[in-house]
Amino acid sequence: MNRLAQVTDPEALARFDGSCAKLRIEVPPAWAGADIEVNVPGKLACWHCDAGGCDRCGRSGAIRLSTPGRTLPLRLPREPRDAAVIRLPHPFADEALGMLMLEIVAAGSPSPSCRRVSTAVSAERPGYRMASVLFVVLLITAAIIFGRSCFDT
Ligand SMILES: [Zn+2]
Repeated sequence: MNRLAQVTDPEALARFDGSCAKLRIEVPPAWAGADIEVNVPGKLACWHCDAGGCDRCGRSGAIRLSTPGRTLPLRLPREPRDAAVIRLPHPFADEALGMLMLEIVAAGSPSPSCRRVSTAVSAERPGYRMASVLFVVLLITAAIIFGRSCFDT
């Protein structure tokens, strides 16, 4: 089973009978954990039929928003992945759209529709600092032990 299948749970989605659109964005792996804004187009592909046309989208293959070019604030997963799908129920309170499946794909440069509004969550930084302090302490300890054993011989 690949990662996409794990995240999307096809059975639960098959039971979901509202409108479900999908949107694919590309973000650099360095953006993991960051807050971003996604510019959502007014016309989205239907998730159920992959834009092929089904009963849920009136055979059009597309789901239209009443207001195009809306901004969707979002926090990216902390773990950088090749691809992930985030399920967003009712992403816009005043739109009929029942679900947005946001496919996030790692890429060298971000999609034009994506804008980073903050860097990765800063809570991780003290951990890194502590790790580097511990590493230096270990190095000093190793140097002392190594130095002593040199003098002993
Ligand atoms: Zn459809």
